[in-house]
Amino acid sequence: MSRETVADSLYARVRECDLCPLARTRTHAVPGEGPLTAEVMFIGEAPGMNEDRQGRPFVGQAGQLLNELLASAGLTREGVYICNVLKCRPPNNRDPLPGEIDACRDYLDEQIALIDPRLIVTLGRFSMARWFPGQSISRIHGKVREIDGRMVVPMYHPAAALHQQSLRETIIHDFEALPAILEHWRAERASAAAAEAFASATGTIGATSSQMRLFE
Ligand code: SF4
Repeated sequence: MSRETVADSLYARVRECDLCPLARTRTHAVPGEGPLTAEVMFIGEAPGMNEDRQGRPFVGQAGQLLNELLASAGLTREGVYICNVLKCRPPNNRDPLPGEIDACRDYLDEQIALIDPRLIVTLGRFSMARWFPGQSISRIHGKVREIDGRMVVPMYHPAAALHQQSLRETIIHDFEALPAILEHWRAERASAAAAEAFASATGTIGATSSQMRLFE
């Protein structure tokens, strides 16, 4: 089955989903969007009012800032995959509830498996908690960890920068580091591939990498 077919099926299930009470208050579910082969995946919290109206992620003011942040990192909106932990808007933009996150979790799992990104950027504490439970975003934002073969970088949600000017420079700084992180990853992969080719050609055994590392 092609990636497109899998994605179409996933998006259709999300749009018809009634696994949690948010199905009753949403206008449109917001499955996510972007190339299915994207290297970078951004995961926010939940749709807001504009996203709920349009059925697309990050289209309001926070989306405008996200577009600017992407540009500062040399990325384009069309080149990355964007989705949320929750696919439906919580009323009045309240925080997602644990039961809603649990109910929606399989969709995000499927998206990550389908896109298979090299780099996941979590935007806000609810997506951060999936990989870094119990951590404080003020302490670990912008720090890269390698988890299960991909890099994960927690960042503040762009909406936080809209409401708190002091966070704006922080989030800009974190985004500007993304090209170096990707370059580092590509160099490591190339080096690992070369070592594997050498080991294969000579019959030696290559070194294994750790499951979880921190790039400072
Ligand atoms: S938030 Fe997720 S689990 Fe709840 S109705 Fe929407 S798609 Fe289904």
